[in-house]
Amino acid sequence: MSGFSTSGILIRRVDYGDYDYILTFLTHDRGKITVIAKNAKKSMKRFLGILELFSFLELTCSKKTSGGLAVLQEAYQEFPFEGIRKNMIKTAYASYWSEMVYIWLEEHVHQKGLFSLLMYALGALDAGEISPHPLSLLFQIRFMHIAGFAPHFESCSICQLDMGTFSQSKIRFDLEKGAIVCDKCATGIRHCLYLSKGTIKQLIWLQSGNFQMTERIRWSVAAISEGLNFLEAFVPFHIGRSPKSLGVLKQIREAY
Ligand SMILES: [Zn+2]
Repeated sequence: MSGFSTSGILIRRVDYGDYDYILTFLTHDRGKITVIAKNAKKSMKRFLGILELFSFLELTCSKKTSGGLAVLQEAYQEFPFEGIRKNMIKTAYASYWSEMVYIWLEEHVHQKGLFSLLMYALGALDAGEISPHPLSLLFQIRFMHIAGFAPHFESCSICQLDMGTFSQSKIRFDLEKGAIVCDKCATGIRHCLYLSKGTIKQLIWLQSGNFQMTERIRWSVAAISEGLNFLEAFVPFHIGRSPKSLGVLKQIREAY
């Protein structure tokens, strides 16, 4: 019986019958994979309660399929990230990021950079040294970059006028084009949002440089709120549907 070993972050767990789980991982080398863990709910000894969402696990699977899925034989917990699951707002953010990956990424497609982005974001969320809100700005904007939908902020998408020379303080962003548009060119835009120049500059910083840059940027409450409103509209628009966990996240955040 041939098989494979890998390591990955558990991004989705679904009950299957009375005893099994169907698990989806974002792996470091195989992209997104879905496997079945047989008797995982019945035999606590076998996986020792480690099949928890957002955990990073070493996996050994057999290729012998059950309903077309590889079967998880062994799992070893590398990083439990349990600080996330103990906190409601952190769980809500991690669920949203995981669902974005789940919806957008095809099975077995290795997308360079996505694994390290999710690992960094979950690690920082777990450690709690950065507020989850700017972390979500970083995760979403880098995700869009990897997905090929990086927002274009530098100049008007139609006349190429440089953003720095726009006279208005709130800049119009066309969700369909994924780019800013100046006042003169703003006709027939069906889906747009407005962002201040200051927020745009901070989002541009987040798009480049290393992940740790997030720790150094000082955000105003208004800029965080504007950035989250923007990205939480832009991401669903381009991945084709709104993650269910985004609705939950918004409710929890309001109640906080
Ligand atoms: Zn223009």
